[in-house]
Amino acid sequence: MKLIFLGAPGAGKGTQAEVVCKELNIPAISTGNILREALKSGTEMGLKAKTYMEAGKLVPDDVVIGIIKDRLAEDDCKNGFVLDGFPRTIPQAEALDASGIVIDRVIDIEVPDEKIVARMSGRRVCEQCGASYHMLYKHPKVEGVCDSCGGTLVQRKDDHPDTVLDRLRVYHEQTEPLKAYYEKQGKLKIVEGQEEIADTTALTLKAVAE
Ligand code: AMP
Repeated sequence: MKLIFLGAPGAGKGTQAEVVCKELNIPAISTGNILREALKSGTEMGLKAKTYMEAGKLVPDDVVIGIIKDRLAEDDCKNGFVLDGFPRTIPQAEALDASGIVIDRVIDIEVPDEKIVARMSGRRVCEQCGASYHMLYKHPKVEGVCDSCGGTLVQRKDDHPDTVLDRLRVYHEQTEPLKAYYEKQGKLKIVEGQEEIADTTALTLKAVAE
């Protein structure tokens, strides 16, 4: 199954992507995580992406399209994947279509902006493996420590409130038009994000299976 998870930053698509991937035994591919990894290791691509990311702007299409093409060519993507955070613009979606990869379904997780702003301030990520947690909704077993790898949990610079508002504006302007793009292809399924992660997961799994 080849899936795309759409949704505003903070709508919970990363968390849902992880669950669905475990269930279907396919990889979750997050351009945000790949870029953060590149940034941490100080590669040329990471340095190029840094200013855009920290300002809450989108990294140029050619950079992320290159990343995704390389990643999807790897062996573990043969039986399917979930794309989390790609595509984020119409040119990115067109590049994906042009590459001959046929997406089965696009799941759009919808959460109102006000709720997102409140949620994002509680989000913490592992600086080592990128796993995400939340001070209210998804506690680690030990405060400040990643359950999976023991890394330190931190707040991403781009989760600070001013940057969140910028990211939401960018989402509405550049990413939201993808809903109409995939609706036209008959692939779009909308999931209303719920208060409880488990309730959203149930709706997401249903949308994937339908
Ligand atoms: P995310 O973790 O998906 O919220 O991504 C964090 C940041 O990485 C975004 O705010 C962008 O600056 C950049 N980024 C991730 N995916 C993309 C993409 N598909 N196109 C452009 N920029 C991206």
